[in-house]
Amino acid sequence: MTQLYGKPLVTQEAMRSRIKELGKDITHDYHSQDLVMVGVLKGAFAFYADLVRAIRLPVTVDFMIVKSQANQRKVSGKVKVVTDLTEEVTGRDVLLVEDIVDSGLTVQYLTKLLSKRKPRSLRTCTLLSKPARRQIDVNVEYIGFEIPNHYVVGYGLDYQQQYRNLPYLAVLDPKGMDAE
Ligand code: 5GP
Repeated sequence: MTQLYGKPLVTQEAMRSRIKELGKDITHDYHSQDLVMVGVLKGAFAFYADLVRAIRLPVTVDFMIVKSQANQRKVSGKVKVVTDLTEEVTGRDVLLVEDIVDSGLTVQYLTKLLSKRKPRSLRTCTLLSKPARRQIDVNVEYIGFEIPNHYVVGYGLDYQQQYRNLPYLAVLDPKGMDAE
């Protein structure tokens, strides 16, 4: 099988150390005893697992499975919640955990949806952000890395459901795709 990705854009070591810092920041900022971390699947699973273990607060874990056209490398603005939360979030501190903020449409959709449930607070944490691709100005309180406008895989992020298990972040190689 052709390898469609190049050298690490963000190494495993850099990921680990940045996620530890994010965990410290979140622990410092929240005085909550009732934090619900909402992981957006599938892409955020690896980041989420590392982040939750870097936070020194009582935490309830929960997940949403979401599908957007952005997964097929284009943006339609349509976001579909395939599986919703199992927890009630009304009156609780909610931290939305995303893999990557690209156009901003997914975060906008999910924050609107969660706001309607009247959480006590709602913030967003993303491993990656591509500012050059932003279509909507969304609030993202915690960002792991800002990256250039490339399609990236690894550390939970896929191309056609592959490469999620790469332990680092790499750029999908368009030359390799032509050769396929
Ligand atoms: P947005 O709604 O912000 O445009 O897109 C968010 C979603 O698009 C992400 O959760 C992710 O599923 C997908 N996405 C955007 N950019 C990339 C990328 O570079 N690589 C991968 N694998 N997915 C991406």
